[in-house]
Amino acid sequence: MTPARSLLSGSVQYLKGVGPRRAERFGRLGIRTGRDLLYHVPHRYEDATTVDAAATLRPGDDATVIGRVVSKGVLQTRSRLRVFHAVVRDSSGLIECSWPGRPWLERTISRGDLILVSGPVRFYHGRQLQPREHVILARGGEGAEVGEAPEDGKGEGRIFPIYRATEGLTHRHVRAIVRQNLDRLLGELEAEDPLDRAGREELGLPALRSALATLHRPRALEEVGPARRRLAYGELFFLQLLHARARAQRKAAAPGIAFREKPRLTARLLAGLPFRLTEAQERAWKEIQADMATPVPMNRLLQGDVGSGKTVVAALAMLKAVDGGWQAAIMAPTELLAEQHQRTLAELLAPAEVEPRLLTGSVSGGRRAELLEAVREGTARIVVGTHALIQEGVTFARLGLAVIDEQHRFGVEQRRSLRQAGDSPDALVMSATPIPRSLALALYGDLDISVIDEMPPGRRPVVTGVRGPKSREQAFEFLRAKLAEGRQGYVVYPLVEESAQIEAKAATEMHERLADRFPEFCVELLHGRLSATEKEAVMRRFLAGKVQLLVSTTVIEVGIDVPNATVMLIEDAERFGLAQLHQLRGRVGRGAEQSYCVAFHRGRAPSERLRAFEATTNGFRLAEEDLRLRGQGDFFGRQQHGTPALRFARLDEDGDLLRHAHRWARAVVEADPELEQPAHRRLARELALRYSDREALYAIG
Ligand code: ADP
Ligand code: MG
Repeated sequence: MTPARSLLSGSVQYLKGVGPRRAERFGRLGIRTGRDLLYHVPHRYEDATTVDAAATLRPGDDATVIGRVVSKGVLQTRSRLRVFHAVVRDSSGLIECSWPGRPWLERTISRGDLILVSGPVRFYHGRQLQPREHVILARGGEGAEVGEAPEDGKGEGRIFPIYRATEGLTHRHVRAIVRQNLDRLLGELEAEDPLDRAGREELGLPALRSALATLHRPRALEEVGPARRRLAYGELFFLQLLHARARAQRKAAAPGIAFREKPRLTARLLAGLPFRLTEAQERAWKEIQADMATPVPMNRLLQGDVGSGKTVVAALAMLKAVDGGWQAAIMAPTELLAEQHQRTLAELLAPAEVEPRLLTGSVSGGRRAELLEAVREGTARIVVGTHALIQEGVTFARLGLAVIDEQHRFGVEQRRSLRQAGDSPDALVMSATPIPRSLALALYGDLDISVIDEMPPGRRPVVTGVRGPKSREQAFEFLRAKLAEGRQGYVVYPLVEESAQIEAKAATEMHERLADRFPEFCVELLHGRLSATEKEAVMRRFLAGKVQLLVSTTVIEVGIDVPNATVMLIEDAERFGLAQLHQLRGRVGRGAEQSYCVAFHRGRAPSERLRAFEATTNGFRLAEEDLRLRGQGDFFGRQQHGTPALRFARLDEDGDLLRHAHRWARAVVEADPELEQPAHRRLARELALRYSDREALYAIG
């Protein structure tokens, strides 16, 4: 039975205590419907049961007190500092609070307010609490709202929920409105939790309705954790369900190729390798072979740190396609990287006697015509290229596998175009940006993921040092010594991109300073304001060894290999994220020589982030650390993938929920792709509610 007007789906305007003006303010918080309000759970709680008694505070304590303001005023010290004072009373007695330099609080804190204060207790003409923080829990006149609270909030185990607020809508307004409407909103929720009971019980999660009730009205703080996890699980599960449906639809849409021919060329490549695959490479290769052998189009992400050996695995996959009589293509984000792949592959594929052909924008004239012809006829079996591969006029006779390198540089659209370049080729996406497994599942849950989390043996990790201003001279002299030995190096400056002119000017100055400092070497400059062609020209000279020292203000081309470059100095390293720092460090350590990376910090001590950077060269471990230090918001912010940000789930803590959600969502979709079974209809409804606008977008991913 549906009520005459649903509070859940209707505008918040119609809820008790709201009206048009407040509805507009709720809009600023992203709250439009009753359901939005129900999901606007407190971002923290103040627990009145664990506060300190005013009477017992001692100087030196760090205390939290809840009480009524009994008097207040602004005083001026002899040094003319204006200080706001308030005396707060709880059931045990009084405590004076003072806010030096904040006289304006006079206007916001009133006599009779129920207030929470926390901060250090000092001795200053008596005991005095200096709040670091204060929260007005209720106004003097709002007795009714906190009617059930005893005078000081003590005694009944009351927890004060604190809501995110906005101008003209305080957290107290939000709380009062939630309180007045909560039961009716909850009453309108479907009685049955959309999530399967067995699954919930396995994870020890409460049902949805009770989780929401708890979050808005907890009886004890211990209840909050499991209730939040229930919302987090819902969020993760439906995101995974969305991914799983996209994946299933894609697989159903076009029958792919089953590569089942006897391994001829792959066997030759393996036999010809001067090394054995690492266990991680073996695993990835097995996963890829299994995918390729089925008639369902492969959509796999191959993740691995720089130098972990992804290219070899990709080469095997391409040969497997060729073994089956198909063509394979690999697409890189720049010409330089495409050329590099072409050289590497030419060497790797030599034992198999397959010649990789290079197709970029620079291949022109007769050579281009000949190559396009070979691609169209199918005699070009492996083609390496840039975006040029997906341009008009390029037609493959039988494209069986598309490998896409450095996937974060390509949008969804390009992935799709390359896939459409053939019938329904398998797709392998390579990424050298390690991201935590949990994040990969959340972001790319629609892909299958292989991870190479192990380096080939015998690799010498880059010796990394994080140094303060005093060590600069020494580091630059070290760089000089290495350049004198014939090595090459990088100096990287972070630059705020204020304006094109400022950036170019600052970069030029740095370049001049370094050129003066190293007159015996050729120093060149790479900055964000150079055109792609100019950048490429500089990189080419560096690659050829004509330039010894490269000064750069941008993150140097991801993936470019200059084995002779062995020193990397990073200025003002605090300004880079961990992932960026790790990418930068990956530019050295590519050859046989020992390599070095020095990151300079300002001030006295390096940040936790820089210490983590110094402590490990393992990209996956750094990515986990980055997630912990920065939170997940950033990762979602940077994506072009369009994955909705997570509100309740914390990827650093909820890995178990995510893995469960991933498994279960795939199981549901495998059993019932259209979600038509009675038990799944609720899921379909909830999915539509959450993502009605996303399904179309995802279907193409
Ligand atoms: P990625 O593409 O992941 O950055 P590459 O495939 O370019 O890494 O490999 C980096 C280097 O390591 C190459 O010189 C490659 O020949 C070498 N290599 C790859 N796999 C192994 C292995 N299992 N044992 C030893 N060396 C390897
Ligand atoms: Mg590579």
